Amino acid sequence: MQPSTSLLTFTRRWGLGVGALYGATFSTGAQSQDLGRARATITTLAAPAMHGRGYVTKGEHRAAHYIRQRFRQLGLRSFTPHYTQSFPIAINTFPGRCALAVDGKPLVPGTDFILEPHSGPGHLSGPVTWLDTLVFTDEPDGQRFLDRSLQGQVLVLRHRDAERIRTLPDAFAQHIAQAAAVVTLVPDKLTASLASQQVTQPRLQVLASRWPARAAQASLQVDARLVPNYLTQNLIGYVPGRIQPDSFLVVSAHYDHLGRMGKNTYFPGANDNASGTALLLELADYYARPENQPAYSVVFMAFGAEEAGLLGSNYYVQHPLFPLERLRFLVNLDLEGTGEEGITVVNGRLLEKPFRVLEQLNSQHRYVASIAARGRAANSDHYPFSERNVPAFFLYTRGGSKAYHDVNDQPQQLSLTAFAGVFHLVIDFFAAVAHQ
Ligand SMILES: [Zn+2]
Repeated sequence: MQPSTSLLTFTRRWGLGVGALYGATFSTGAQSQDLGRARATITTLAAPAMHGRGYVTKGEHRAAHYIRQRFRQLGLRSFTPHYTQSFPIAINTFPGRCALAVDGKPLVPGTDFILEPHSGPGHLSGPVTWLDTLVFTDEPDGQRFLDRSLQGQVLVLRHRDAERIRTLPDAFAQHIAQAAAVVTLVPDKLTASLASQQVTQPRLQVLASRWPARAAQASLQVDARLVPNYLTQNLIGYVPGRIQPDSFLVVSAHYDHLGRMGKNTYFPGANDNASGTALLLELADYYARPENQPAYSVVFMAFGAEEAGLLGSNYYVQHPLFPLERLRFLVNLDLEGTGEEGITVVNGRLLEKPFRVLEQLNSQHRYVASIAARGRAANSDHYPFSERNVPAFFLYTRGGSKAYHDVNDQPQQLSLTAFAGVFHLVIDFFAAVAHQ
């Protein structure tokens, strides 16, 4: 999922007890299935061997290999050789060293600091200097800042000021680019991301509480490499429809994540989005059983490069494998690992009728604690489809673990409270769409 403020402003409406009722087991048609396999999928995808499913040590290729194997075991059909739709991306990567020490004391990558997505490389040591907040309000002070050389210095900005820089004349951003390195102090949590460009200097985010108030000297070693033409992929398999095989329902989930930040730190991405990938695979397992063959064809799209800016789904809508007009509904799954507070449906406010179907199914079966509707949001892979008028919902779970785009997004944090509920909701919803 793409960073958005709304994600961080959950409301707590349900106690923890509700989830226990729904989280324990779920049945896949003929047989009852516990959450063990889903949990194992999440653990595999979030393991160090997958390197955070990013672009260092080919983590995303390893994840793709695993998904391909699972598709093959289920006997899914393929539109392309090996379920693969390849596409190139430009991506900034951090393959080597990632170290920061302040006054000789090392900080811990991932926990105390992270690199900004577009950080450049640099091995240096320099005096610490602050951006004086007065530059925003006092013109002579701003001019003094511009007149002072920043060469060789590590410039420290408060989070709020780093954002306010944009309100100043371009000369300020250009001047700041002359510093040896830029450190932004963030108040509560580190949130990593990816970029397709690179700036010339190292740029870091440091937790404000870990930065010594009177720091005089900082030294850092950052290896950053911009890869202009990295070939990654979407993985797409399907189960043909029994009655109308040229009508398509789609389950999508991105399998990529943020990868590595230096040799010793990686982002597991258990909730984002090993959980959605695991749910996609459980749904594929359901539909692949002969007794559950759907009326319409059901397609499973595991998208790559979502974290790099919805690149896989954008590529897909430009290179569709069947006419987009034949796509009756897409359900995108991203952040499916919790659910103590129920789920949210992006586009639920726009597509009122199908949203009412979801609500009715849920009030009938009590699959999840609550279903909230949201409007349009460009925060995951449903968005490029919505923009092309394909009916699409994005379902994400709420409550539980707050780890997001950080090193704490680990499998053991996930309750999977709404996992089974969403599984059933999607199956019932698809059946309702196909019966219209
Ligand atoms: Zn994400």
